[in-house]
Amino acid sequence: MPATENVHVWGDARPLYTYTRYIQNHFGERVQKLAVDAGLSCPHRTQGRLAGGCTYCNNNAFNPSYCTPSKTIRQQLQEGITFHANRYRRANRYLAYFQAYTNTYAGVDKLRALFEEALQCDGVSGIIIATRPDCLPESVVNYLSELAQRTYLFVELGAESSHDITLERIRRGHNARSTEEAVHVLRSAGIPLGLHLIWGLPDETPEMMLQTLHWAAGLDIQTLKFHQLQILRGADLAEAWQHTPEAFQLFGLDDYLEFLVPIVEHLRPDVAIERICAEAPPKYLLAPNWGLIRNDEILRRFEKMLLARNTWQGRCWRGEF
Ligand code: SF4
Repeated sequence: MPATENVHVWGDARPLYTYTRYIQNHFGERVQKLAVDAGLSCPHRTQGRLAGGCTYCNNNAFNPSYCTPSKTIRQQLQEGITFHANRYRRANRYLAYFQAYTNTYAGVDKLRALFEEALQCDGVSGIIIATRPDCLPESVVNYLSELAQRTYLFVELGAESSHDITLERIRRGHNARSTEEAVHVLRSAGIPLGLHLIWGLPDETPEMMLQTLHWAAGLDIQTLKFHQLQILRGADLAEAWQHTPEAFQLFGLDDYLEFLVPIVEHLRPDVAIERICAEAPPKYLLAPNWGLIRNDEILRRFEKMLLARNTWQGRCWRGEF
């Protein structure tokens, strides 16, 4: 049962622990994330390890228009503030989100210059760094640990699945053990973190996906971000999908929301859900086509569904937290 009749342990009556609530709990007010592209690329694409990187990847599909490494970090943040102020309510504080590619793929001096430039911008109260679990050398972790002591620092790790067979199939270039080790290293260094997962990866069954959820919920993570598999123009997966679309079982929107109910019910109640689905610009998205519905509308629909069924995040969680 919820902690009180109307309020759950995360502090409100919504049926899941939203990222908005997580930020509110931490900062006491709304803080806007602003994506920046530091132009750091990705070791998985540039070292010829497994030429081409992850099969589903096309970073251009989720970089906002103002984000380009040809602009300084400061310029991108300033344009990001204007971009968001024109669309939403203006925030007073911001988090610089180093989102594109692998944002620990550089020496400490270069990373320090980039992150410090962001932190010196007016209104920026911290940084979020997206990276791979296998790109956290000790020197970088030491620097991040020092940074975490003087500002808000959060690391987002691309885990995608707990199944090594899937990780191989999508050419991730690391296994589940690497993610477990990265979580341990970062948490030991005092750094909060979240995992990124994809639902509907090739040949994964709903049971396998629920196993991934249990695995993630058993790790010392603070947030979870997940989305449906999307076939993006320019990604290697697009070619396979175009040849044999019948080999892919992409989620329709209704099926996806239905699938998410037990996922959320089994998630630890203290793990904030940062996102439940992805939105890609129509020029990149080949499938699945969910129409023009926006992410926030899908979240509202999902919340209504949970409320109508009198269920909530963590209802089936049996562990400690
Ligand atoms: S998804 Fe991330 S790790 Fe994979 S190729 Fe793209 S940028 Fe690199």
